[in-house]
Amino acid sequence: MKRWGAVAWRAAMVVLLTLGAGGALASEIPSYTPDPNASREEVPEVFRWDLSALFATEADWKAEIEVVARQVEELASFPATDSDAQTLARILGLYFDTHDRANHCTLYANLIHSVRLDDDHAGAMETQSLALMDEVMTQATTVRQAILSFDDQEMTDAYASEKDLQTYRSYIENIRRRRDRVLDPQAERVLNLMGDNLWAEIDLNEIPSKSENAFGALLTDIAWPKIIDEDGNEVQMTLASYGKYRASENREVRRQAVQAFFGTLYQFRHAFAATLSGQYEFSTELARARGYESAKVAYLDKYALAPAVYDNLISTVRAHTDVLHRYVSLRKTVMGLDAVHLYDLYVPMVDAEIGAGDGMDYATARETLIEALGPLGKEYGQLLAYGTDPANGWIDVYPHAAKRSGAFSASVYGVHPYVLMNFQNSQDDMFTLAHEFGHAIHSHLAMTSQPYSAFRYVPFLAEIASTCNEALVNDYLLRHSQSDEERISLLLAQAENIRTTIFRQTLFAQFERDVHAMVGRGEAVTADALDELYAGLVRDYYGPDYVLDDYDGMEWAYVPHFYYKFYVFTYATGLSSGIAIADRVREMGEPAVKGLMAMLSGGSSEAPLQLLARAGVDLTQPAPIEAAIRRLAETLDELELLLVKGSR
Ligand SMILES: [Zn+2]
Repeated sequence: MKRWGAVAWRAAMVVLLTLGAGGALASEIPSYTPDPNASREEVPEVFRWDLSALFATEADWKAEIEVVARQVEELASFPATDSDAQTLARILGLYFDTHDRANHCTLYANLIHSVRLDDDHAGAMETQSLALMDEVMTQATTVRQAILSFDDQEMTDAYASEKDLQTYRSYIENIRRRRDRVLDPQAERVLNLMGDNLWAEIDLNEIPSKSENAFGALLTDIAWPKIIDEDGNEVQMTLASYGKYRASENREVRRQAVQAFFGTLYQFRHAFAATLSGQYEFSTELARARGYESAKVAYLDKYALAPAVYDNLISTVRAHTDVLHRYVSLRKTVMGLDAVHLYDLYVPMVDAEIGAGDGMDYATARETLIEALGPLGKEYGQLLAYGTDPANGWIDVYPHAAKRSGAFSASVYGVHPYVLMNFQNSQDDMFTLAHEFGHAIHSHLAMTSQPYSAFRYVPFLAEIASTCNEALVNDYLLRHSQSDEERISLLLAQAENIRTTIFRQTLFAQFERDVHAMVGRGEAVTADALDELYAGLVRDYYGPDYVLDDYDGMEWAYVPHFYYKFYVFTYATGLSSGIAIADRVREMGEPAVKGLMAMLSGGSSEAPLQLLARAGVDLTQPAPIEAAIRRLAETLDELELLLVKGSR
């Protein structure tokens, strides 16, 4: 019944490593000049991914869709309770096999659609497969009920008598760990009707609450004002163009944009306060209904994370805000400002012309990447060389008309990861490649080491491998830089990354925590209270050289992350862990690589903090956060030398 048994995935691994043994030298990579307006057919075939590894034809996909539909019916016919060990193993086997098959169907349609956004047929295939996936996920309720119908002794006996159950052990135990939180069927039904998704098997932030929907509608309805752009023309500001004007090199344009933006938000402050407090009250009620002391504890418990992880991040960052203060004063000095305002934060600190690396074609980027990630060892290097060789069908390299923008990695269990890029021959694109292959190889190692039920890494661990790769690439480029300009450009990008990902996201995390605490204490969450709290945090984080303008405290109002239910902090813990691991690899070599590989291969077979411990990172302690902050401090040391004390 299981399509990708142990034998299949080990075999896939062997084939892969044999083929990958060639190392950095890919099969001849032809040269090609990227053209976003080209048709897909004009991009040489070698640069397009090969979906035939998923399904040979659409007819095969259709046939598989029917198999999934039949299996969903079969799953629905199982009794949820009164199961014995053998039946439980059968339910789990059928459920994960069905999930795996449905996932193949969904990804196939999704990948086709991603490169043919104008193809309605591909869109319909995607919709159809997603609807089927929904039906599969609905069956998870039956699976959970079956698992929870065993008491502890019965479960121990079941593991002993039915060996197949061992395959699902991590999945089973993760559900049983929280079984005290499951209420009687009537109460569960009510919570479900209310929209509780604490038990959902998907990202917590994927199902928007009514408050989040109201927030989105409010943002959509707002008419943004017109401003005067760099050429003196009156232009309409939109939510999408705000970021561009905020980063304008013309100070008057960016000042005007920020002032107009926050001034407009201010007119809707009570409505925004109502949607945000609605969201936080709802989360708090759902958490309390299950006996959790707070929403924070409840949402962290989904991944067995102790609240200490969250609080440690905030207290560690707070203890080192002096480094962010230094960043702000460097900006002030370099830009020659009297003080730094919000509208001075997003413009490049020095002339945007500076920066080498443009004109880096794919073959060069690939070779540089393989060299830069050399410290990750031979096995990693072989996988990277194989996956980035376009001839092997993992990657869709270049932009073209009707292709999805940006980049992503999607992994198909038993096949291999697929990576979508929009490579345009720049150094930035190489960083994106490093990032996406962090995801891809993480998935690949997990799916060749774990059964389907335990291969998918949780969101909390998702951005560690990707940011570790970026840190290693940055180190490599700094070591090989040819000029001060190149160093400055790399150092500034690194500083900005740490400012926005560690400091800004931790500020968000603290705001989210503190507003929830107000809700927990029964205090009124008014617009005034939110403004005051937010402005106070900005003042503390950014320090004496930073000046808050009248409506700056309103920034909380439009940040969508505040509706993601204790998710935003994972950006900061992810990058911190990534940097901490990159440091370990640089300093310790082999043992650090071994630890990282063990974590990556672990998928979700253990709790996230346990897996991280294998890579030598303990997020209940300040050390990994301090590693990232130290990197910012060192970056600033050098930038101060290059920009202030040096030639300028
Ligand atoms: Zn990512």
